[in-house]
Amino acid sequence: MPAVASLPLIQRAVGNDGVCVLTFDRPESGANIFDAATMGELSEHMDAIEQDSSLRGLIITSAKKSIFIAGADLKTLLKQAPTGEMRGFIAEGQRVFNRIAALNIPTVAAIHGACAGGGYEVTLACDWRIASNEPATRIGLPETTLGLIPAWGGSTRLPRLIGEENASEVILKGKLYSASEALKLGLVDEVVPRDELLDAARGKLGEGKRTAAKVSPPEGKTQLFGDPKSARARALGVINTGSANPLDESLRLELEAIVDLGKTESTQNLIRNFFLAEKYKKGSSKTEFPKVAHAAVIGAGVMGSGIAQWLSSRGVTVILRDVNRELLNRGLANVEKIYGEAVKRGLMTEEKAGQGRSRIVASTAPMELRDVQFIVEAASEKMAIKKEIFRELSMQAGAKTIVATNTSALPVSDLAHCTVSPDHVIGLHFFNPVSRMKLVEVVIAKETSEATKEQSLAFVRQIAKLPVVVRDSPGFLVNRVLFPYLLDAAELFEAGVDAVKIDEALTKWGMPMGPLRLIDEIGIDVTIDIAATLEKAYGKRDHAAPILTKMREAKMLGRKTGSGFYKYEGKSQSPNQSLNQWRRAGDSTRDGDSAARPPAKEPLANRLLFLMVNEAARCIEEKVVESPEDADYGMILGTGFAPHRGGPLRFAEHFGLKAIVEEMNRLGQTEDKFLPCEILKKHAAAGTKFYD
Ligand code: NAD
Repeated sequence: MPAVASLPLIQRAVGNDGVCVLTFDRPESGANIFDAATMGELSEHMDAIEQDSSLRGLIITSAKKSIFIAGADLKTLLKQAPTGEMRGFIAEGQRVFNRIAALNIPTVAAIHGACAGGGYEVTLACDWRIASNEPATRIGLPETTLGLIPAWGGSTRLPRLIGEENASEVILKGKLYSASEALKLGLVDEVVPRDELLDAARGKLGEGKRTAAKVSPPEGKTQLFGDPKSARARALGVINTGSANPLDESLRLELEAIVDLGKTESTQNLIRNFFLAEKYKKGSSKTEFPKVAHAAVIGAGVMGSGIAQWLSSRGVTVILRDVNRELLNRGLANVEKIYGEAVKRGLMTEEKAGQGRSRIVASTAPMELRDVQFIVEAASEKMAIKKEIFRELSMQAGAKTIVATNTSALPVSDLAHCTVSPDHVIGLHFFNPVSRMKLVEVVIAKETSEATKEQSLAFVRQIAKLPVVVRDSPGFLVNRVLFPYLLDAAELFEAGVDAVKIDEALTKWGMPMGPLRLIDEIGIDVTIDIAATLEKAYGKRDHAAPILTKMREAKMLGRKTGSGFYKYEGKSQSPNQSLNQWRRAGDSTRDGDSAARPPAKEPLANRLLFLMVNEAARCIEEKVVESPEDADYGMILGTGFAPHRGGPLRFAEHFGLKAIVEEMNRLGQTEDKFLPCEILKKHAAAGTKFYD
């Protein structure tokens, strides 16, 4: 038997003082998780603890550097979810935690490090919770973000501990809290320095068993709008009904809810997304690359200043360049604003922000760039300007410097040709706003060497972004897939379909914002420019409707000018009535509501979504990305594509490829752009799928 198998997952030690300490310490791992084996071992320890009448208290703790217990084993849950097999695993967890809660000796959880989901629920079965004041300590119940609910007693014990209202907030938001926030919310009873944690826990045992807290009833019940079958709605149901019922009944409700949710496509997609994030974070390269310490960013506009801020916040020194002082100052003001907001939102301390700012050196003069490992060009989207910059950089950069462009749509290959080392050129396409968008498209030109690609992937991971590798081709992945959808929405609007109706069809479906609102965010001018590049490559499906040009001429450029498809005043927005002069009278035949033919289910959302499905399928067909995961995950990260739908290709498979092809053929009779691509037709005919 291998040595590891015989090592315990949890160590039990009883001191002379009669205090039993259970220390979670999964061998050969930086993390503790609750899998079936851990639960089994905890159950065995409980046998011993229950039988030992000499014990005077129990402490639960962890030996890991930065993790208490990270939660339940999601791999097992994902495997068991579709069949409902998870019932046994969840029920066993409830039984074991109930045994901790039923002990007649006082119990304390001594928490240092991440304490999430099941990891926090085991502490809720204890009388008291003490946390270390270290930044690594993060406490919460993130289950609803994965389409699940806390079902090892979390949805039952937390409302009884801190009240229904606060518990609803913690569970529905699914956020992890710092120790001090957790203390304020009542998630823990005390916060102490890490080296005092165990002593403080022993001290707390002296207070004996906790008497049930008096929790004031909520002033008004939390209301939730939206899908009543969603995890948040089910969690709220359990919190509200469970609180009014005995504990056992509430636990039963938890169990039923999680088993039901596990069977849904949405929950399985959300758990898959979680694993995808892990996969993209780690990458597959075995080579360790030295960390990038020095970089340069060319162009201090919206993107350049955002990228400079982000790099500097991750410890990289940055030379930021633009053509004149005024533009540089505008860029630096933007850097300042992003740091200021991060401090205000509690994401970093003022001290850390100060250190970050001081890593940026702004200059208008061409500077020596020989020691810089990475240069990110984020100058204006004009080929002539970028070519000039690349020629110049080629002379200034060191022999090993990698030169990346942040272009949205220009061929990276054309820029590589302007340099003396085209193999060192790559695309790193960041998204706006850089500080919030995790995706970076890593664009591989024909000339890009394998070493440049690998080092760039390592760099993107170093700065805590998630890379998706894409082939150098117009629009790469994200804009290419997004634009036919956006442009069709504009065309529908021009044809007379109501803006709110279009946007609501998509937000109800799960998109974070509707397509017309999104065009307003991107800017009408930028939308037209990108559409023009794409139309040249792909034809009519990327044609910008004439109304967009009229809006540009009238300087209605979207949110940045206060008017686009909507008028923006402060925080409110309303449909822009002045656009009506350029629209045709209401044309319901375009949105599928025509009386002439029976409407399909969700016709408006579907016609737009199918355009995205078609384009994502083409990206697989043309090997723009390597896998359906890349296409789906790229769209979720780059556009906020409804995460619970799993991305355009997962959505298509769930909907049924055959049904999609039939509907697209029907729409294609009047509008070519809907005709399904070859790979879609092939899968639909053969009954095969993108995912095995
Ligand atoms: P921007 O117009 O805000 O900024 C461009 C900056 O580049 C300007 O400050 C300009 O003075 C500067 N510049 C021009 N020539 C220069 C030179 N020779 N040397 C140094 N600086 C020079 O544009 P932006 O929105 O920040 O876009 C920059 C790049 O990023 C473009 O390629 C764009 O396609 C791409 N991009 C933009 C977005 C977005 O949402 N804005 C998203 C992804 C990628």
